Amino acid sequence: MSGRLSQHPDLCPADRVERAQQGAVQAGLDALLISPGADLRYLTGYAAHPLERLTCLVVPARGEPFLVVPLLEKPSAAASPAVGLGIEIVGWAETEDPYALIAKRLGGSLRRVGLDKQMWAEQVLAFQRSLPSGAELDLAGGVLGEMRMRKSPAEVEALRKAGAAIDRVHSSMGEWLRVGRTEREVARDIADAILAEHATVDFVIVASGPNSASPHHETSDRVIGAGEPVVVDIGGTTQDGYCSDSTRNYCVGGRPDAGYQKLFEVLLAAQRAQCEAAGPGITSGRLDAVGRTVIADAGYGEYFVHRTGHGIGLETHEEPYIVAGSAHVLEPGMTFSIEPGIYVPGRYGARIEDIVVCNNGIGAERLNGTPRDLVQL
Ligand code: ZN
Ligand code: ZN
Repeated sequence: MSGRLSQHPDLCPADRVERAQQGAVQAGLDALLISPGADLRYLTGYAAHPLERLTCLVVPARGEPFLVVPLLEKPSAAASPAVGLGIEIVGWAETEDPYALIAKRLGGSLRRVGLDKQMWAEQVLAFQRSLPSGAELDLAGGVLGEMRMRKSPAEVEALRKAGAAIDRVHSSMGEWLRVGRTEREVARDIADAILAEHATVDFVIVASGPNSASPHHETSDRVIGAGEPVVVDIGGTTQDGYCSDSTRNYCVGGRPDAGYQKLFEVLLAAQRAQCEAAGPGITSGRLDAVGRTVIADAGYGEYFVHRTGHGIGLETHEEPYIVAGSAHVLEPGMTFSIEPGIYVPGRYGARIEDIVVCNNGIGAERLNGTPRDLVQL
């Protein structure tokens, strides 16, 4: 992705930096230091690459924000929406010290500074050396996380487009997934199809037969056999910067065994119950329990080994996390995955995953629409 990518103005409204400043005040932070990544893109529309040369958006709790970039990146930064948002762009030359430059502009009265949670350690240490002694370093992530987990209508629309894009890839699975091909061969074709629909391919999981019992399996040279279940979990990032993520389950050249079919029916019921229960007002922990109870009651409790889901937006995994015990209350505009799974080690497994958005009224809407049943090819 490049900083030159055009971004719809609705995806980068002018009030975000101001809201981040209010969040910083509430969190007791004197400034936020945001390095390249989703937080920078969220605040400025600038999709910068993380490099050893420092790029950093400086957001003082009070005062004007400014974006510090290496001189050679200045044209790219100047072409990004940051300029239209009125953010001053400050270039630094190869022989200058950008950390000292930032420290000088922020002044000597800093008490607490919030750093981007994905800032490189060498840059964190350089800030530590350059900022006034006694200035406490903390994370800016809390402030940005609170903002980013509540999606605007334009962001929901961008996620809806991403969902439709990955749905089109799943809908074409029959072109690639066949008995006798390896997981890797199938994954290569899927990756091409994801790229045709998105700006980048983020991940491709093709897990066949016993590999389906490993939630983190990606691909291998294993040849796909007749009647074997295949988990396909795929995602990419669209031109807008928003992510897709959807898991479906396939079976090629024959029916899977009865044990698997029973497991799958339980999983389908659990995922459906969770999609129906999702919506404003329910806690993440309670939503997790809705699916976990269905799975445990059917005797598969020990095989559901991960949380129910994760928030999604400019990153595939972001807040809120749908995890057991969480008291976090879901709100309108929150978008996240519902992806329970059952994995019987050494035998087989399945996972069904949809992205949903909490609606303004009651309930949640799924942003993926391909069949959730076992798809026989
Ligand atoms: Zn996911
Ligand atoms: Zn996934």
